[in-house]
Amino acid sequence: MTTNVLFHSTPKRWAEYQAPLTRAFAAAGLDDIHLAEDIPAAEVDYMIYAPGGATDHDFSQHPRLKAVLSLWAGIETIIDNPTLTVPLARMVDHGLTQGMTEWVTGHVLRHHLGMDAHILGQTGTWDPVAPPLAQERRVTILGLGTLGTAAGLALAALGFPVTGWSRSQKSVAGLSCLSGDAGLLQALTVADILVLLLPDTAATRDILNADTLAALPEGAVVLNPGRGALIDDAALLAALDSGHIRHATLDAFRIEPLPPEDPYWANPKVTVTPHIASETRAITASEVIAENIRRGEAGEPLLHLVDRSLGY
Ligand code: NDP
Repeated sequence: MTTNVLFHSTPKRWAEYQAPLTRAFAAAGLDDIHLAEDIPAAEVDYMIYAPGGATDHDFSQHPRLKAVLSLWAGIETIIDNPTLTVPLARMVDHGLTQGMTEWVTGHVLRHHLGMDAHILGQTGTWDPVAPPLAQERRVTILGLGTLGTAAGLALAALGFPVTGWSRSQKSVAGLSCLSGDAGLLQALTVADILVLLLPDTAATRDILNADTLAALPEGAVVLNPGRGALIDDAALLAALDSGHIRHATLDAFRIEPLPPEDPYWANPKVTVTPHIASETRAITASEVIAENIRRGEAGEPLLHLVDRSLGY
C-alpha cells in the first residue's frame, strides 16, 4: 500500500526539498511513497512539517497520521498543539549541526581576538596589543545537546576551556559538564563568553535575566543562537548599558523578523544576525526524514523523538 507523505511547508522549500527527499526515499529502500505538498487530509500517513505561516495546524483532520517530522530543531511552536497526538520528531541534521558550530566558533573568535578594533579602527594608530590565547578565555555553553556539544568540542579543540550546562548531568571528554541550579551558577561565573543553545521551554524562558546576568564576570560577552525567549531583553539592555556585559551577538528574538524600531538594532554593543546561525540542509535532512519513515514503516522507534513532558 502506498505511503502518503505530505510536505507541509512553503513552495520555496518544496522546490528545494522535492528532489533530495525523492532520492533519499529511494536510497532508504522506500519504493512506494507518494510525496506531495497537497494530499487529501484523510490520506496523510506522515507529515514533514515546516510551515511558512500559521503554526496552529489541525492535526485531527488526518486520521491515518503516524508521525510528524519537523524540519526544524526547535519545536516550540508545535509542541503544545492539542490536536497533535502522534509522535513528533525534531530535526537533528549533520548540516544544521555543522552550520551552528561554524557560527558559534566564528563569533567566539571575533570577540576573543577583538577583531572589531582592527576592522573598524583603521585610524593610523599603531597599538600593538596581542589578544590572550584561547586557554585564557573561558566559554560556557548553556545547553549541551546536539548543537551545544558539537560547538563546545570545536571550541575545546581550539584550546578554549569550555563548560557546558544541561538538565541531566553529562560526561563529554574535553568539556566540563555541569547541571542543576548550583551548576548553572557555577557555569555562569566562569563565562567570559556565554553561548545560549537551549530550547525554548517553560523551564528555560528568561533564563538569562537580571540575576543570572549579574553572575557573569564583568565584561562578559553573550551569544544567543538559541531562542529569543531565553533572554529577558530589558535586563540584557540594562546590563549592556551599565557595561557589565561588553557585547551581545543575537541571532534569535522573541519577535522575528526583529522590528526596525527594536532597541537592539541601534545599540552599538549589540550585533543582530537574522536567525541565520544555522539552518536545516536539504540533502542531509532528507536522509534523516527518509530514515525515520523507514523506521516508522518497519515498526522501529523513530529517531529524535520529542519528549512532550519536557517540552523539547
Ligand atoms: P537538544 O535537544 O539536542 O539539546 C538541548 C539541550 O538543552 C540539552 O542539553 C538539554 O539538556 C538542555 N536543556 C533543556 N532544558 C533544560 C533545562 N531546563 N535546564 C538545563 N538544560 C536544559 O537541542 P539542539 O542542541 O539540537 O538545539 C538547541 C536549540 O538551538 C534548539 O532548541 C533551537 O531552539 C536552537 N536552534 C537555533 C538555530 C538557529 O539558527 N538560530 C538553528 C537550530 C536550532 P539534556 O541534555 O539534559 O536533555
